Amino acid sequence: MTGQDCLFCKIVAGDIPAERIYEDDQVIAFSDINPQAPFHALVIPRQHIATLNDLEDGDSDLMGRLFLAARAIADREGFGAAGYRTVVNCNRGAGQTVFHIHVHLLAGRPLDWPPG
Ligand code: 5GP
Ligand code: ZN
Repeated sequence: MTGQDCLFCKIVAGDIPAERIYEDDQVIAFSDINPQAPFHALVIPRQHIATLNDLEDGDSDLMGRLFLAARAIADREGFGAAGYRTVVNCNRGAGQTVFHIHVHLLAGRPLDWPPG
């Protein structure tokens, strides 16, 4: 799938509405439409990258930015001390359904381990 027909690229472009909770020059975050915890956000790069498998060496700074954004959001929302979870599903076997890389940020309830 190219960026052109990608759901999250359309959210980045503003063509599909989303409840944006963070944005900077490289990253946006918005509430998940089907939350799995009291707080569930998706942190994504503006740039279209399909999966973790598609990362290149030059993407290391961008991936760092995703996690720094997740940390900033968790801190702002008051979850830093209690804890939160970040998840990146890679490909269908791991539950990836939208092929634009994203970090799930989950918080607000006890989060069991191991996950399903
Ligand atoms: P994945 O299963 O690929 O790891 O995560 C995709 C996530 O995107 C799911 O948690 C799903 O609920 C969320 N999602 C799918 N479509 C939309 C949408 O149109 N808007 C928003 N805000 N989230 C979506
Ligand atoms: Zn995309």
